[in-house]
Amino acid sequence: MQNVMLTYEDARALVFGHVKPLEKENRPLAESQGLALSEDILAPHGMPLFDNSAVDGYAVQAADLTEATRKNSVRLEKLGYISAGDTGDEKMGSGQCMQIATGAPLPLGADTVVMKEDIELEESYVRFTQSIRETENVRYQGEDIPEGRTMIPSGTVIGPAQIAVLASFGFAHVPVHRLPKISIVSTGSELVDVEGKPKAGQIRESNRFMLAGMVKQESCELVKISMVPDIPDVLKDDFEEALQADVTLVSGGMSVGDKDYAKPLLKEMGVEEIFWKIKFKPGKPLFFGRRGKTLVFGLPGNPASSYVLFEEFVRPALRKLMGRRILEEALVKATLDVAITKTHKRLHFMRGQLSEKNGEFRVRPLGFQDSHSIGSLVESNALIRVEADSPELPVGSKVLVRPLQNEIA
Ligand code: AMP
Ligand code: MG
Repeated sequence: MQNVMLTYEDARALVFGHVKPLEKENRPLAESQGLALSEDILAPHGMPLFDNSAVDGYAVQAADLTEATRKNSVRLEKLGYISAGDTGDEKMGSGQCMQIATGAPLPLGADTVVMKEDIELEESYVRFTQSIRETENVRYQGEDIPEGRTMIPSGTVIGPAQIAVLASFGFAHVPVHRLPKISIVSTGSELVDVEGKPKAGQIRESNRFMLAGMVKQESCELVKISMVPDIPDVLKDDFEEALQADVTLVSGGMSVGDKDYAKPLLKEMGVEEIFWKIKFKPGKPLFFGRRGKTLVFGLPGNPASSYVLFEEFVRPALRKLMGRRILEEALVKATLDVAITKTHKRLHFMRGQLSEKNGEFRVRPLGFQDSHSIGSLVESNALIRVEADSPELPVGSKVLVRPLQNEIA
């Protein structure tokens, strides 16, 4: 059968169609960062919990101070001191005030707090030299978050802000989706380990470390990472173990070379091919398949291809498995600083340098775009989307750009 090359959009739709969020579970709050919520989080009660002071100062009735000026100051009887953590059942009335700490409960009868910096202290009185708006410096029960409000929607990835809210409302455990388990296998007889010295014709292996780094950016769990020569029996044993994960990433051996065993072997081992080859650059020979619940991405060995394909296919798929609502960094519109004169029959995600000046994005495609280029990886912080059969794009053209998590000089 003639292999029909899918477009980027169709291929992504197929990937997302096969990815379902993983099982739900409850995790301790302190271990929840990076996981996605599996349920909407509703406020079980209002926040703040009780009326309290926003400043260190004196609780008063604002009406007592209506006439207060520097010339015509008002004196109020000083009662006690309410510190943070006190129960807040003190009472005061007109003509009186109470010292109060930030976060301490407002005493009954008070409606306003005057900042400590604005008063003059006398023996058993406090002198006020200005009027104040009623309710000033009071944080009212429920004014920040009303009871029942959806505070965090399902699918939100938990970060420090979400942890603060969850902790405040007593979520010692949080409902999340479990994280995907990932295995990575780099294939190729030319590969030597990072400690090794390449002999003639050999290269140091880098993809498994690169892909592991990208997987870690998503907080996913790496269960296996290996490097295997192009020897079918050895590959097979390694693949069998790798296929126990939720997602298996195979690097290399996806093309049509005589020793590109990886793809045919995976199929022989029961991995159903969902697609192979896409109208995309870099990384035409992308393979996507499934065995049982395990998803398999076959990434061509060229580092830049693997990198870009991970960004555009694997990362959003991992996020969908995690149950995340937002699957990728949104494309931004940027102005081309350097013309793009060579375009292709395939959609091209070019490595480029994105910068921002006065709130506007500018982007410069890198000169060297070959798929084996690792130099371009450390130099790029964005991918420029250049359509298939696009006309030349002169300086000043507006292009869509995917920002990358990569710091460049
Ligand atoms: P392949 O996809 O196996 O045909 O490999 C394509 C190119 O990428 C070849 O030049 C390989 O030497 C190189 N390559 C393959 N795997 C790796 C890897 N894990 N790390 C670095 N380069 C690789
Ligand atoms: Mg190879």
